Amino acid sequence: MIQQQTTVALDGAAVHELAARLRGDLVRPGDARYEEVRAVYNGMIDKRPAVIAQCEDVADVIAAVNFAREHQLALAVRGGGHSGPGLGTVDNGLVGDLSRMKGIHVDAANKTVRVEGGSTWGADDHATHPFGLATPSGFLSTTGVGGLTLGGGIGHLSRTHGLTLDNLLSADLVLADGTVVTASAEEHADLFWAIRGGGGNFGVVTSFLFQLHPVSTVYGGPMFWPLERAAEVMKFWRDFILSAPENINGWFAFVTVPPAPPFPEQHHMQKMCGIVWTYTGALEQAEERFAPIRAFAPPAIDLAGPIPWPVLQSLFDGLYPAGLQWYWKADFVTDLDDKAIELHLKYAERLPTMHSTMHLYPINGAAHRAGKTDTAFSFRDANFAEVIVGVDPDPANNDRMIQWAKEYWLALHPYSAGGAYVNMMMDEGQDQVKAAYRDNYAQLARVKAKYDPANLFHVNQNIVPGE
Ligand SMILES: Cc1cc2nc3c(=O)[nH]c(=O)nc-3n(C[C@H](O)[C@H](O)[C@H](O)COP(=O)(O)OP(=O)(O)OC[C@H]3O[C@@H](n4cnc5c(N)ncnc54)[C@H](O)[C@@H]3O)c2cc1C
Repeated sequence: MIQQQTTVALDGAAVHELAARLRGDLVRPGDARYEEVRAVYNGMIDKRPAVIAQCEDVADVIAAVNFAREHQLALAVRGGGHSGPGLGTVDNGLVGDLSRMKGIHVDAANKTVRVEGGSTWGADDHATHPFGLATPSGFLSTTGVGGLTLGGGIGHLSRTHGLTLDNLLSADLVLADGTVVTASAEEHADLFWAIRGGGGNFGVVTSFLFQLHPVSTVYGGPMFWPLERAAEVMKFWRDFILSAPENINGWFAFVTVPPAPPFPEQHHMQKMCGIVWTYTGALEQAEERFAPIRAFAPPAIDLAGPIPWPVLQSLFDGLYPAGLQWYWKADFVTDLDDKAIELHLKYAERLPTMHSTMHLYPINGAAHRAGKTDTAFSFRDANFAEVIVGVDPDPANNDRMIQWAKEYWLALHPYSAGGAYVNMMMDEGQDQVKAAYRDNYAQLARVKAKYDPANLFHVNQNIVPGE
């Protein structure tokens, strides 16, 4: 369970002192910008922090961390604000909002990029694309670099260049006692191990240094088939992706086709299955590579083709603006057997709203190069990350879509590897956090006890110190 720290009444003089120490703004209930600044991506989350520190730099982060600790305030750290359970905010506590810390420096010669802790993947792609380089990230450009990296980072390039955390070279953190350290393979190696999967449990990352890869214009985009063909498409995709070359990535989805271009009108609001492809090999070989896929079952809608990387990364941004209601359920999957596929089809037919979806992301290929204990991310033997998400603009549909997501997950859970990707869980309690880390949990708890013994950083998928 995510621990709720007791919050003491804040005295005005102390708040003024914090405001004076910050270069950024301090926003409190009653301020004109409070409603706008307290909002996070998931419209289902409605928390009212006592203080929001809009940090401009590392000094501001240190001030915010020290203030929360000294005043026994629950502390939430917000990167991109995309957390499903709203872990970037907290009732009555202090939010360290990093969204103004978006500085990015590309070192094209060394193929690295240094990214500040509040940046988003869209900003990162914008900075690296002119150099023909990219870092593996996710599937949406508005997601935060902070939360996505610290929990794992599954995306279009996972099979090709590994998880995002596999491309992390070092990170600067403000620790619970307000000191600043660099974590890398050479410095604070235990901390570096823990932050690669252990989420925001260990400190506030003010800057990340990532490996870049030559990724510029790729061949990618979605293909869709009618739901009646989903069983054969899913089986074909499963077999294909388990042995495909690492430069091909394709994730599977159940969707309702949005009633807007570029989707052909005859398919609007039709439930379909799809695969979203990314091929980073030679573009002139792409058509040949995809010919067997298209021949197997000609897609009803085929939008795959040459596409600049940042465009692929932001393809779904418009469909999923901030403020929608989101409810997530997830699991890792090792073997996607035919029985599980049958069950998937049953729930695909019942997609409760237009935005609701189920994705299966392949995490084999390059993501399998690291072993189970090499980083805190344990499920290196799983082949897929499954996520079932009920999404809708209207809170009136929440009960219906939450019920669908829970029932779907319960039906498929016996076919899973037994734990879920922390970045796609809601607040599901300590047992689920432990299940997400399996044998790595004990070491995470030891590292937590060393760097954050009082559990100041507990607004996250919490690792309890020393447990
Ligand atoms: C629409 C959508 C699409 C998504 N797509 C993907 C995807 O393709 N691949 C994928 O892997 N995940 C994806 N996710 C999940 C995503 O990785 C998590 O929600 C992640 O936590 C978001 O990071 P954030 O910084 O935006 O979130 P926040 O809500 O700001 O933070 C989430 C957690 O990370 C911590 N945190 C954030 N930044 C820092 C920092 N700098 N230092 C210390 N702690 C920090 C916070 O304290 C909090 O506990 C998606 C989520 C959404 C809502």
